[in-house]
Amino acid sequence: MDRLIHGTAANDTVRVVAAVGTKTVEDVVARHGLSPTATAALGRTLIGAALLGATQKDFDRLTIKIESDGPIGGVVAEARPDGALRGYVKNAFAEVPPNGNGKFDVGGAVGSGMFFVIRESGFALGLHNAPYIGSVPIQTGEIGDDLAFYLAKSEQIPSAVLLGVLLKNSAPYVAAAGGVLVQMLPGANEHIITMIEDTISHAPHLTTVIDGGAGPDELVEMVLGEIEFKKLGEKEIRFECTCSQEKALTMIEALGAADAREMLEEDGGASMACGFCGADYQVSKEELAAIVARLS
Ligand code: ZN
Repeated sequence: MDRLIHGTAANDTVRVVAAVGTKTVEDVVARHGLSPTATAALGRTLIGAALLGATQKDFDRLTIKIESDGPIGGVVAEARPDGALRGYVKNAFAEVPPNGNGKFDVGGAVGSGMFFVIRESGFALGLHNAPYIGSVPIQTGEIGDDLAFYLAKSEQIPSAVLLGVLLKNSAPYVAAAGGVLVQMLPGANEHIITMIEDTISHAPHLTTVIDGGAGPDELVEMVLGEIEFKKLGEKEIRFECTCSQEKALTMIEALGAADAREMLEEDGGASMACGFCGADYQVSKEELAAIVARLS
């Protein structure tokens, strides 16, 4: 089971969130047939959305959206408070050669553009509150750097973000996926910050540790070293899509009477694929006729 934990350290002046999401990322990737670098990009963004979600209150859906000019064209990752994650990459099959360190060149695949964080709330009350939208220009496109830059610029919280995805050559292809977010809250002292920075710079690679069997608790230990951690909560994270036949019908209805009538008369039905999970929804002639009747 994939897990996320969150808590504080150093008298509540440091917030730490850690997650291991190997199975979650594998489940998402299996639905999209992503190239290896697109897998790394989406996996990091999904974990980043989960970590960020754990620092925020009162939202129904938190989305990290990357709009960029690189080969993969953009990434969307959504997190819900209950730990459900879903996402996609615009050009799933796009691939780029490894970077100078022999690693996935996620930055090269993403390119430059904008990094958005969208927070929506009020779903349970049936409200359509205006979503909160924050954005910053993409820094390196490596996702972790961009999320840290967003937090510093947009939310004024100095943060360190570690995100990683490790792949292998046989199924299941995702050997390890996870991340750690460390935030300096008001009152954090320089000494603690330096200690954490030093611990992180000497820590082994995140995905190596996860591949070796580490869970989120070990990841927290890895970044905090001797500093004591106060765990405040934990939850399961998993892939889960929110699409349904009912939502597919609503989408057709939103296209309007003319389009619905055209689908009915020319195709005698419709099929809709969910961009998040690839599920196919077949809309029958009868269902289309009911929509046309309702709209006319
Ligand atoms: Zn879906």
